[in-house]
Amino acid sequence: MPKPGRIKPPMGHDNAWWWEQAAQGVVAIQRCTQCQTLRHPPRPMCSECRSLEWDFVASSGKGTVTSYTTLYYPQFPGYEYPLNIVLVDLEEGTRVTSCLTGCTPEEVDFGMAVTAYIHEDEDGFKIPMFRPAAKGGI
Ligand SMILES: [Zn+2]
Repeated sequence: MPKPGRIKPPMGHDNAWWWEQAAQGVVAIQRCTQCQTLRHPPRPMCSECRSLEWDFVASSGKGTVTSYTTLYYPQFPGYEYPLNIVLVDLEEGTRVTSCLTGCTPEEVDFGMAVTAYIHEDEDGFKIPMFRPAAKGGI
């Protein structure tokens, strides 16, 4: 019996483009074209000026851990446990929640420098994750 894979995130009109960028190796950050405010996760309207017009910028993937937790249970298919969940302040000024791989839960710390990379599942699904900056990224 094949091993079950990761549950795919819902993708709709407002966020499918972000996952398409990730599949191409880009960690995208949505930008309001009226006031230039960056926002994540993707959503239709700018919270600053209410504009519906937007484009995006490609993140450098560089950031720092601003908060974190370690998940032991429940264990969902497609993830390795214990699972480091991090809230990362990207250098562009937005935050993203993701997984941190390449280190133990004991090694994760506030302010830790991390770098994004694109993880690819066995079924080809690509998802941005982070690793300690010393280990390289996108
Ligand atoms: Zn705006």
